[in-house]
Amino acid sequence: DLTINKIAAGEVVEAPYSVIKELTENAIDANSTNITVEIKEGGQKLIRVSDNGDGIYEEDVEAAFMRHATSKIIDLEDLNTILTLGFRGEALASIASVSQIEITTKPRNQSYGIYLEIEGGVVINKKQVGCSNGTTITVKNLFFNTPARFKFMKSPQAEATKISELITRLALSQAKIGFKYINNNNIMFTTSGDGHLKEAILSILDKDLFKSLIPIHNQKEPIKLQGYIGQPTYARGNRNYEIVFVNGRYIKSKLVYKAIEDGYKEKLPINKFPVCIMNIEISPQLIDVNIHPMKTEIKFHNQQMVYDLIYNTIRNTLVENTT
Ligand code: ADP
Ligand code: MG
Repeated sequence: DLTINKIAAGEVVEAPYSVIKELTENAIDANSTNITVEIKEGGQKLIRVSDNGDGIYEEDVEAAFMRHATSKIIDLEDLNTILTLGFRGEALASIASVSQIEITTKPRNQSYGIYLEIEGGVVINKKQVGCSNGTTITVKNLFFNTPARFKFMKSPQAEATKISELITRLALSQAKIGFKYINNNNIMFTTSGDGHLKEAILSILDKDLFKSLIPIHNQKEPIKLQGYIGQPTYARGNRNYEIVFVNGRYIKSKLVYKAIEDGYKEKLPINKFPVCIMNIEISPQLIDVNIHPMKTEIKFHNQQMVYDLIYNTIRNTLVENTT
């Protein structure tokens, strides 16, 4: 039902940012090893996500754009599932209802690809095409049929900044996938996908971080930390380089930011922030996730234990490694 899709779109699709998040997460879920994200004018004019993943079989393509179409198994133990549970199978339907979409997709075991064009949720063109394995989804003129939402979009520049942060986090959380990010025909960054977090950090963030990165790892049941922190000399003016993943998913946590910053205490000038790109591995049973699509705020059951491990790890690593 098109009306329901438009209402649901308000939940899932708030801005170009959320469209890109959904499309890129789908590409990651599809076992891709290369993903290209392209935007024009902050994504308002064009968003294109291409992958070399599983593709969608001809008989499933149209269904993928219907509400509650999901091929994914719901596993409550899996943080990925919990984080997206609120809108299982709704993303493509929602996006299609408020934009002009084109998809070209081909699974390895199908000799041809399928091209499908959808406008405002209605299929207007479908044909077989020759193409490489994987999926390319192009979203044009987002909110063309929902003027109220269109008005609420920020400037293309502001949207592009948010999108760039998003792609950065996705690429850092998935070092095994090669990412390319293109903004207004300019390649902003590419990562090799060789699986090394350090390589990905250096490909995306400042090259002069090179000498400044210190590996961290520590483990205390049931938590495991792994990642890189920057030398205190590499202080930042904001928290943009405090990037935290839980089980490979980007999250926000005031507790974790505080533990990181306290670990650097007295090592950084006032109002400066550290570089810390870190994954926390923990059983999903020991965390609560706010499942609103746009929020990634996480709560740990045992806050003190998480705080202590991060704080101590960072403090000790700095003591051993600062000159
Ligand atoms: P969900 O991701 O919650 O299943 P979506 O609406 O985002 O719902 O996608 C619907 C379905 O379309 C997915 O379950 C998947 O089968 C298929 N799909 C979407 N994007 C891709 C892609 N890039 N590659 C392969 N399959 C995809
Ligand atoms: Mg999805």
